[in-house]
Amino acid sequence: QNFLSLSAMAAQRLDSVKHIIIVLSGKGGVGKSSVSTQLALSLYNTSPTARVGILDVDLTGPSIPRMFGVDKSAVHQSSDGWVPVYADGAQARLACMSVGFLLKNKGDSVVWRGPKKNGMIRQFLSDVRWGDLDYLVIDTPPGTSDEHLSLLEHMAPLHSRLSSVIVTTPQAVALMDAMKCLSFTRAVNLRVLGLIENMSGYVCPCCGEVSNVFSTGGGEAMANREGLEFLGNLPIDTELVSLLDDAEQSSEMSLQARYSNTPSSKLFQN
Ligand code: ADP
Repeated sequence: QNFLSLSAMAAQRLDSVKHIIIVLSGKGGVGKSSVSTQLALSLYNTSPTARVGILDVDLTGPSIPRMFGVDKSAVHQSSDGWVPVYADGAQARLACMSVGFLLKNKGDSVVWRGPKKNGMIRQFLSDVRWGDLDYLVIDTPPGTSDEHLSLLEHMAPLHSRLSSVIVTTPQAVALMDAMKCLSFTRAVNLRVLGLIENMSGYVCPCCGEVSNVFSTGGGEAMANREGLEFLGNLPIDTELVSLLDDAEQSSEMSLQARYSNTPSSKLFQN
């Protein structure tokens, strides 16, 4: 099959998705998956009928299943393609898909060359039965690599529905890498909704005083300089870490409640 027919397949499958948001970061460990998780959940919480999908294409470090508390689940095949894992159970409004669901053991690593990664991404876009979605949030690997190019190539016919969010931390090295991300978006003509500065200051749980562990404000300065929307800063949040690391434990709480009372949730509620 040539490339055109592959994009056409992905476009057909994703035709029922209204908005696609690609979450990018220059560096690993800045909180891209955590932001993707919170973004997907806050979009889900916007209305009792909102339908949201989250696709994890971080093939070498898939953390979305753990963050949604569904890492023991498996996807299965239907006659109409792969059925995603619904993180909200029977409501079936929050669809998750990740390579993590396809690994035999959680600790297994994916050591694939570019063409195989490309094949997997194509399958995620063209073979998953996403159904009608208001939003599809895509968590990507750090940097701008094969995975990003594959995504954009396969979704080229859907260009008008695509946008991105860049996540950075306040340190100079992270900001430099965020600039590389931004120049990538410009090179491929991908709309940027804005920049989020994560791990921006530590709020003391006892007295509420803010300490700027990694400095702060660099993300906002970069956004102003580059004419980007600054979407806000998220503090270092110990409560969020335990929720994300142990989402399965907290899965008896409703998805609504899970992340909604942490210091970082304020940004997403707006
Ligand atoms: P990435 O996807 O960029 O590699 P993750 O979202 O996996 O980063 O986050 C890396 C680690 O940092 C995780 O353990 C996560 O819980 C933690 N983390 C992310 N955001 C915050 C935050 N605002 N405060 C504290 N820890 C955070």
